[in-house]
Amino acid sequence: MTFAKGILSGKTAVVTGGATGIGAHIVRQLGRLGASVGIVSRNEEKLRQAVNSFREEDDLEVCWRSADVRERDAIQKAIEELATELGGIDILVCNAAGNFICPTEELSVNGWRSVIDIDLNGTFNCCQSALPHLKRSAEGGRIIAISTTAANFGWPGAAHAGAAKAGIQNLMKSLAVEWGRYGIRANWISPGPIAGTEGVDRLILQQGMAEQVKKSIPLGRFGEGEDIANAVVFLSAQTGNYITGAELAVDGGGQWQRR
Ligand code: NAP
Repeated sequence: MTFAKGILSGKTAVVTGGATGIGAHIVRQLGRLGASVGIVSRNEEKLRQAVNSFREEDDLEVCWRSADVRERDAIQKAIEELATELGGIDILVCNAAGNFICPTEELSVNGWRSVIDIDLNGTFNCCQSALPHLKRSAEGGRIIAISTTAANFGWPGAAHAGAAKAGIQNLMKSLAVEWGRYGIRANWISPGPIAGTEGVDRLILQQGMAEQVKKSIPLGRFGEGEDIANAVVFLSAQTGNYITGAELAVDGGGQWQRR
């Protein structure tokens, strides 16, 4: 345990894409530290499995709704229902995303649109839907978007995701300014490659790039889901009180190697 037990007691959090990968690590860590957590994504089977494993392995009761972040009415309804069940939303983690490798020359309009829609438009939908609840948060609502260090450069082979994540980062800067008057902090975390995730499996391991990528990371390893979860806790707790519109890169220093 890296933080004082109970550091998030009384807080409520919604994590999009919280059933799998990095999102599930975030859910476990928020829950272990005292927050009541709800998750939302599309696949009901994955949601049920995740909720069972949170209960069995961590003794956490996590509520859930199934919705697509691209569908405004559906995601707004899901967030509304989660807020009712949780008793509010203090922390919104926009983690849901889609991605695939494809050279831009061959990228279909649908492929481009789909990733922009899930990552960027989905983040906008979730932020606006959660706003009434974040405004009411006693110690100031928190929005934490999960971006990627690749958004700070071009992302050859995944220009759709790079553009969407860069858009998310810019959105967080605007929200930090516009919603600061409501006490809301809007920040983003930029992970480097995180071990054991679908993303690393498809985008790095299956492309035969594991060793090359590890060599490009000054700390010499992929990150762990818990590294990202701890950064979310830091921004969610009082430790994040005076931080807004900021990037927290959690990447073992990898992005500096690319300059
Ligand atoms: P993941 O396991 O594939 O998680 C993505 C989650 O988003 C899934 O639970 C998925 O659930 C949900 N999702 C996808 N499309 C959705 C939609 N339209 N509506 C609602 N939910 C949707 O991926 P991950 O690797 O843990 O990545 C999590 C986040 O970290 C992403 O934002 C990713 O860009 C970022 N990131 C990851 C890495 C890495 O190394 N893995 C590095 C940098 C950044 P359903 O399919 O059931 O909807």
